[in-house]
Amino acid sequence: MSTFMAPEVFDDAVRAYCTRYPASVISGGRTRKHTIAVGGFAGDPHEAWFAVDVQYDEVPDYDEAHAFGLTLGLKVLREGHANGDHLQPVDWLND
Ligand SMILES: [Zn+2]
Repeated sequence: MSTFMAPEVFDDAVRAYCTRYPASVISGGRTRKHTIAVGGFAGDPHEAWFAVDVQYDEVPDYDEAHAFGLTLGLKVLREGHANGDHLQPVDWLND
């Protein structure tokens, strides 16, 4: 599990993203036990504190949100969270 992004750069990107849309972080860094309990996998980016799930005040168009995320170095994944998305570094690799 790895990224070239520094933790503080990820945090600043999340802050900028959540200011743009606006959105609240509803899940962030997780323990392995909690990660697996909520359907993740060992070594997923939440466990490394390189992922957040956000809940929007108003859900934006996905293509627009995805494009804006890329300008910040974020990959925006719409995974079916209620009114929200998952954000992680665009270069995140599971290994
Ligand atoms: Zn997530």
